[in-house]
Amino acid sequence: MLRQMKESYFYAPLISPIYRELRRRWHGRKFAGTGVECPLCEREFRCWVDQEGSDVCPWCESFARHRLLWLYLHRQTEKLGDWSNLLYFAPDPFLDWLRRRSRINCVTTNLCGRGVDVHADITRLPFAAGTFDAVICSHVLEHVPDDARAMRELCRVLKRGGEALIQVPLNRANRFTDEAPDETDPLERERRFGQFDHVRRYGSDIVDRLTAAGFLAQLVSPMREVDEATARRYGLFDDCICSCRKPVADIQVTVEAKPELPSRVLDPAAVAAPA
Ligand SMILES: [Zn+2]
Repeated sequence: MLRQMKESYFYAPLISPIYRELRRRWHGRKFAGTGVECPLCEREFRCWVDQEGSDVCPWCESFARHRLLWLYLHRQTEKLGDWSNLLYFAPDPFLDWLRRRSRINCVTTNLCGRGVDVHADITRLPFAAGTFDAVICSHVLEHVPDDARAMRELCRVLKRGGEALIQVPLNRANRFTDEAPDETDPLERERRFGQFDHVRRYGSDIVDRLTAAGFLAQLVSPMREVDEATARRYGLFDDCICSCRKPVADIQVTVEAKPELPSRVLDPAAVAAPA
């Protein structure tokens, strides 16, 4: 599994885009049907591609988390009208949908991947304070050893009143995040956090972490009010999005002190689920 994950990041100029296009067309035929519908590329298929347990769109290669963001934002299209300047980590199928649906100026960034406007370290963003109306940061923070500094940077580059939508692998049953920023063994990272390059698995205390970074933060569940048939149809799953707003004025926040024992695998049965 580890070798497969590393290979998924492999990219060869010219060859990889051709391979991807051929795979897309092959998948389009192989999965032809009407059982499921991808809201991002607006195509129907017999079923999703099962990629290590994830439901992936045969055409645009969206994951359930991309479609969850779609579910959240397509219900609130007025948000898109309020955003004129968006910082986006990093190109993915949801961004393609967003660009087709709005005229938002999207600045794309990541550390060193292909096809972005700016290569940048999320803990030292090369943007002035208050540059963006909104930030979308999906499945990045779990890779970053100093996530507190990254969260402060996301808040800094937002305008006051601006919104950040943040997605991470989250275990809501755990009150506290399990992390090992100094762990370098990819096999241990995969065993403990689910992927060879993750350094933590967040618990519900991510709200406290975002609050400490300066946000007014809450976990939202877009799947509420979605029936089972719709969830199956669009390949959605019950997950949370961190909705974070930069306060319009400075505020004093008090965050619950973290106990000394969070850096270990927490037994969900021994930890009370959050209310
Ligand atoms: Zn699609």
